Amino acid sequence: MTLVDSHCHLDDRQFDGDREAVIDRALQAGVERMMAIGTGGGPPDLEAGLRLARQYPFLYATVGVHPHDASKATPETFVKMEALLAEEKVLAVGEIGLDYHYDFSPREVQREVFVKQLELAGRAGKPVVIHTREAWEDTLRLLREHWSGGGIMHCFTGGPAAAREALDLGFHLSFGGVLTFPKADEVRDAARLAPDDRLLVETDAPYLAPVPNRGKRNEPAFIVRTVQRLAAVRGVAPDRIAELTTSNFERLMFAPPVR
Ligand SMILES: [Zn+2]
Ligand SMILES: [Zn+2]
Repeated sequence: MTLVDSHCHLDDRQFDGDREAVIDRALQAGVERMMAIGTGGGPPDLEAGLRLARQYPFLYATVGVHPHDASKATPETFVKMEALLAEEKVLAVGEIGLDYHYDFSPREVQREVFVKQLELAGRAGKPVVIHTREAWEDTLRLLREHWSGGGIMHCFTGGPAAAREALDLGFHLSFGGVLTFPKADEVRDAARLAPDDRLLVETDAPYLAPVPNRGKRNEPAFIVRTVQRLAAVRGVAPDRIAELTTSNFERLMFAPPVR
């Protein structure tokens, strides 16, 4: 089984003691590619993912300002981001979006920084990785107004209605550990209706570990649990999910942009 973890925070401090071992276990589990999300601790540092991607051939990176860190962004942040987007190993802009749950940055600033990054992604011809929490309406509105490319709804936790809206916008739905949580029936309903060619899987490690590791540190190797659950939900073999999500990732990230 060959898998891609489309979203992990391998730069996280929680991996400082055993990062090599974590990466080894991922490879052992068949996770042949990982996308290291580059948001890190926020600006001025934009290279949290890229530093790792430069070290390992099977790691790729995103660059972006997380909505939590939106108020740390300056004009220089976007200049630097534009330069980094030219690097081959930077596959996407992310994770970007809106988080009205924590409100770590003022909502108006979050929206402004989100739109600015959509523009940069458009210019670079790269997809976006969207983080949205308790801000679905505004997220969709801004995407409709400012985005015509592809992308990923990371850690998709909506139900069927939200899934249809995201799919209509041309997005891929990336499912993570939440899919395995006992109360996540709505998410599983969404996972059932997504077309084969729009499915992705992720860990969001070190966060949101799937059952039976729920509540503990997550790591890319644990993606296998999510794949098994997704397979059961869709009534197919885990190998089929692995095959689909791997080819979907390749098509989204390595095919020339259609715009
Ligand atoms: Zn996120
Ligand atoms: Zn994340």
